Formats: sequence, C-alpha cells, structure tokens
Amino acid sequence: MGTREPAEPEAGAELAVWEFAGLLLTYWCNARCAFCYVNCGPDRGGEMRVETALALWQSLDRLAAAHGKTMRIHLSGGEPFQDWVRLVSIIRAAREAGLTLVDKAETNAFWATEDGVTRSRLELLDALGVRRLVVSTDVFHQEFVPPERVRRCVEIGRAVFGPGRVIVRWWDFLQNPVETRRLDSAERERAFRAALARHKDRLAGRAAEQLAPLLPSQPAEAFAGLHCAREVLQSRHVHIDPYGNIFPGTCAGIILGWAGQRAVADIWHELGAHWREHPVLAAVVAGGSYELLQRAKALGYEEWPGGYASKCHLCAHVRQFLFERGVWPEFIGPPECYATVV
Ligand code: SF4
Ligand code: SF4
Repeated sequence: MGTREPAEPEAGAELAVWEFAGLLLTYWCNARCAFCYVNCGPDRGGEMRVETALALWQSLDRLAAAHGKTMRIHLSGGEPFQDWVRLVSIIRAAREAGLTLVDKAETNAFWATEDGVTRSRLELLDALGVRRLVVSTDVFHQEFVPPERVRRCVEIGRAVFGPGRVIVRWWDFLQNPVETRRLDSAERERAFRAALARHKDRLAGRAAEQLAPLLPSQPAEAFAGLHCAREVLQSRHVHIDPYGNIFPGTCAGIILGWAGQRAVADIWHELGAHWREHPVLAAVVAGGSYELLQRAKALGYEEWPGGYASKCHLCAHVRQFLFERGVWPEFIGPPECYATVV
C-alpha cells in the first residue's frame, strides 16, 4: 500500500449533537478478546452505579430533546450481564423515570449456560422495553465463549424478541464457529488474519497491541493527513464509562469530558465551543494520528521502527506513550483503556 492522499479537514468542523450513547456499565469482562478496542478483561473493574446511570441517561435524553432528537441508549461494557441485578435495576429505574427505552443491550452470551435462565432473562428484558439484543461472536470471542452459549442466546432471543430484534455480530462466525482455544499458536494466528480480512476492526486498545502485528505495516508518514473529524466530532455517537468519562464512539481512551458531576449538555456545549483547546482532538482533527505523533515527538515519543498497521494503531501507540507518562491526564485515560503498565 502506498502513501495515501491526505484528506482535507472539513472546513469549519463542528461538533454534532450526540444522539447515540453507550453506557459502558463495567470494564470487567469474562473474556479478553484480542480485538477488544477498549481493553476489557477479568482483571478490569469499574461498575456504574444505578444512580449514575440514571443521571447520565436523563442528561443524555435532555441533550437530544433540546435539539429535537431522541437519544438512543445502548448498554454495553465490558460485559453488562456480569451483574444481572444491577443491569435490570438500571433499566427498570430508567423506565420508571419515563426515560427513553433501551435501544440495544449488548452481550457476548457467556452467561447463557442453560435454557431456563436464558429465557427468563430475555423475557424480562423484553418486558422492560429493550428494543434489540446484540450478541457478539467471532473468532476472537470464541476463544472465551463456547459457541453453544451464543447459539442458545440467539435462538431463545429470536423466539422472545422476534428475529428482527436480535443482531448477531457476526452471523458467518456463528454458522462456522472456530474453537479458537483448541488451536495452536500458528493456527490461531491464521484464524485471526482470516477474520481481519473478513471484517474490518478498529486497531485500538488491545487490538493495537495484539492484532496490528499480524497486518502489513507502514511508516507513520503513510497516515499523514488522515484526519479524524468524522470520528471524533461528527459521528453523533459517544460512550460513557462507569466513572463518567465520555469518549467518541470509536475512540475509547480519548476523554471528551467528564460527566461525573456535570450535565452532559453542558459538556457538549463547552466542547463544541472549545474543542480546539483539547490537545488530542485538535491534533487528530487537524491531521489525524500523524499530527498527534508530531506533538508527541516533542514530548519524547519515538516512532516505532516496525511501522503501524493503520491510523488507529498509530494513535493507540502514541496515546499509550502519553498515558504512561501522565501527559494530558484530563484527556487521555482512564487506565482501563490502556495496556497495563508493569
Ligand atoms: S470485545 Fe467485548 S467480549 Fe471481548 S473482551 Fe472486549 S468487552 Fe469483552
Ligand atoms: S486515529 Fe485515533 S482519533 Fe482517529 S479514529 Fe483512530 S482512534 Fe480515533
């Protein structure tokens, strides 16, 4: 692949109204998928309290309504089904408060070990107004979650919700599952490469560390000018973690603002007016991760001699460096989104 033509940053790039919001209820996950663009796993924690979720939900609803829109909330993680009682308490509290219904509840189905429990949980979600169930499965998840649990969750889900309300990412992997944990390392690597060729994944978080080395790499210069205005300003999609950190929908670890004690609408207004003062946003909107690299070089970052597989791989590598050195802690964090430093 040759050097790409730099894209022109959108003239007068503006922050779009957030209309899709994922509440990351925890960073804990039974799995530790190589492709996890956050960095979730059994050693990660953080639990969003019911009151926190409710306050964020209200705040998000208000932001969308003030712009004549309806907020679409999805519940995610980590694995949001880790604490079933808390998940249900959050959904019930939102419903009783008259907030928007849950657009999607996401899971890897690790908990679907038995028909009766699976059915009763999904029936309760349906009764509480959850619109859609999203079940994740692919060669990466199949290293940790047996396909029969996914199949059980999907089949019972389709019976309870109706087929149109159950989304499987990805069907081809459910039809042809790979018992990844039974493969030796060479077979595992081949399976991962084949999966990456079938479905594009963002190479951030753990994927930057574990999957990027499987792909062809290029010098950082190849990503010059690939700005990220669309991803960080215009996508209309954010995630909020258990601590109230708001991230762009696809860029966990870049903190847009902290909603711990402030209304989301206030953060959105302030960011809209001042995003050029956000050191990471200003860089990636101006010139993508290559521009972030230039700014990090001034702080001691040295370009990785092996090159980078994508602009997000470059971004994740540079941000890991900045995180480890405590640069811009208000904008780069929390630790759960970055590789553990030992
Ligand atoms: S990709 Fe999903 S299932 Fe896998 S570790 Fe991350 S949160 Fe867990
Ligand atoms: S390069 Fe960085 S800011 Fe741009 S889309 Fe990728 S992770 Fe997000």
